[in-house]
Amino acid sequence: MTEQEQQSARDEAALDGIDLPPAGTKQRGRLRFSHPMLADWSWPFTVVCGASDGPRLALISGVHPAEYPAIEANIRFTRGLEPARLRGTVVSLPLIDVPAFLPRTPFVCPIDGKNPNRFFPGDPNGTFTDVMADALFRAVIRPSDALIDLHGGDLVESLIPFTVCPVIGNEEIDAASAAMARVFGLPYVVKNRPQPGALAGMTIHAAASAGIPAIIPESGSCGLLTEPETRLLVEGIENVLHHLGMLDGPPRQVPPPVEVERFTWLTAPVEGIWYPSVIVAEAVETGQTVGEIRNLYGDPVADVAAPHDGDVLFLTTSPAMREGGILLAIGAR
Ligand SMILES: [Zn+2]
Repeated sequence: MTEQEQQSARDEAALDGIDLPPAGTKQRGRLRFSHPMLADWSWPFTVVCGASDGPRLALISGVHPAEYPAIEANIRFTRGLEPARLRGTVVSLPLIDVPAFLPRTPFVCPIDGKNPNRFFPGDPNGTFTDVMADALFRAVIRPSDALIDLHGGDLVESLIPFTVCPVIGNEEIDAASAAMARVFGLPYVVKNRPQPGALAGMTIHAAASAGIPAIIPESGSCGLLTEPETRLLVEGIENVLHHLGMLDGPPRQVPPPVEVERFTWLTAPVEGIWYPSVIVAEAVETGQTVGEIRNLYGDPVADVAAPHDGDVLFLTTSPAMREGGILLAIGAR
């Protein structure tokens, strides 16, 4: 067989699911799906199958396609992971929202305008994003014992690194997710309860609801591929593998994170130009002005104040702001 034929043989094996290669090997391929709506697309993956048995970890990124430190950290960690050192299996997909990557559409899939991280575990009878989420959930997330879904600030936002963990009311799964979040080593851990509306349908809620501990680590800002933020993610992934017993030795000691129980997203009451008066990581107090919105003549049209004390965890850096658009988020213990 030529190399190309070998590649297509591997492609054939990755239809609607990923077959694991022999123990102690690493295999690349492209995942395709039989659902007609997904026929034109494929998802690059790498499977690292450890020399000995252990958990199966799904390592994904690019649910938001301009969060480049996340994508880079996934690729770099997976390339450097030697099967001989590993117990269990890592299934890495560096890019989930494939259609959004080259057009650089922030947050949403350009085919139907939906944010994939609001539509997991998906729906095979929905529009493209629902179908994609369903196919990837079945093929990649559901067969796993743990999920790391890497994110960061998209093209229009900056953030201080934090890890989101789901709180779904299942004590065992919630504790396992929180333990992964703490050991990941970012300065904040945000407890996220699924709620109707804006924040439903995240990968980590869908995973946790299926009994799979899951975290979303966030690092990087404004669509920039920056080295310190990438390295934070690579080190965090490695620490979780130690924590799960997939790599030898205990996890590296990390400073205890600030545990955020209250995570408030402020939205624009009117459209206009957004002038924030705070920066990420800044501590704010109840009632403090955090920015204002002006109209296209420069008249102030809305003052924005902090509803409670806390730290600014992320901030929209792009001034163009529609009514209801996200301005910033404040996290508090
Ligand atoms: Zn994201």
